[in-house]
Amino acid sequence: MSGVTSHGYLLELIRSSGGLSRQQLVESTGMSRGTLFGRLDTLLRLGLVYEAESLGATGGRRARRIRFEDRGRVVLAVDLGQTHARISVTDLVGTELRRAAMPLAVELGAAAVLGPVLDHAEKLVASGSGELLVGIGVGVPAAVDPLTNAVLHPTTLAGWPADAVTEAAAARWDLPLVVENDARAAAVGECRSDEETLVYVKVATGIGCGIVVGGDVLRGAGGVAGDIGHVRARGSDPPPLCRCGRRGCLAAYSSGRALLERLGIAGIADLTARVAEPAVAAALTDAADVLGVTLATTVTTVNPHRLVLGGSLGVLAPLVDRVRRQVNDTVADLARPTVEGSALGDRATVRGLARLVTRRVYAPEAVDAAVG
Ligand SMILES: [Zn+2]
Repeated sequence: MSGVTSHGYLLELIRSSGGLSRQQLVESTGMSRGTLFGRLDTLLRLGLVYEAESLGATGGRRARRIRFEDRGRVVLAVDLGQTHARISVTDLVGTELRRAAMPLAVELGAAAVLGPVLDHAEKLVASGSGELLVGIGVGVPAAVDPLTNAVLHPTTLAGWPADAVTEAAAARWDLPLVVENDARAAAVGECRSDEETLVYVKVATGIGCGIVVGGDVLRGAGGVAGDIGHVRARGSDPPPLCRCGRRGCLAAYSSGRALLERLGIAGIADLTARVAEPAVAAALTDAADVLGVTLATTVTTVNPHRLVLGGSLGVLAPLVDRVRRQVNDTVADLARPTVEGSALGDRATVRGLARLVTRRVYAPEAVDAAVG
């Protein structure tokens, strides 16, 4: 049964309202008491709602508020980077309850990476008490097919089978799974309301980008909406060679990998520690200029409330300031967004993954399917 009187719709109403009495539910749905109470009994039995505090006596019977059952419900979020994994157990709105991190080397292949990471994740989940795991989210530094969770065009995950993540997760958990591009998940995590339109750009080893329009994440026809790392940019001449084999990609100018090669610095942490050095500052300015000009088109097309810069390099104040200046110089007055560094830092992807999992698990159609 679906539509505006289904179990899933009813749960959505209870969840979004913060809880309602039976009488309030009758009034706001227009359902008959018999049908409504039957649906509520099912939701109570499945542990999706619970009877909470008393709202006072009405008609001789104590009315209690029916609330969405989020107590002890948790999500496992695994953010697979190119050099390390972040593993978190969160509540249903993405607040971290426990976290762990471990180094990894994606080039060792899917099995060598996913085995230890998911072992660690299982331990982190098991270390809680009184919790119920409702779903799993995995962020990857690659494009993801929105329908199948398959990892696409894995330049960063070379040699990984498209279904490596889904297979490895399914072998451990019989629960809903969301696999999402890490920057796109971070864009969801950065949103402050369901109405916000936002562009999030991650500048770390590579460059990623996620776009949220009015609360909905933009995936595009092929799952690569916002994937700006390999768009042809305008910078120094001759254009630098990119890891993808082409010349002049944004990533070849502005990614952490490109900066490390240009400066002869070994790692991102070393680079961020040396931003005050003139050569490093100049390279960062050049990278930000190319990024800012490239982003101006995206910003004009999407017209976001905010352009949020994240990732270990993206949050650096000199880079944020320079991108802001370029965007403001290039974009028409009315289209200028707030440009800021991420306040969530590396928690943005985890929070976004948790939100995406929660949306999937409690979507009215998913609830109706579970009831059916
Ligand atoms: Zn490229």
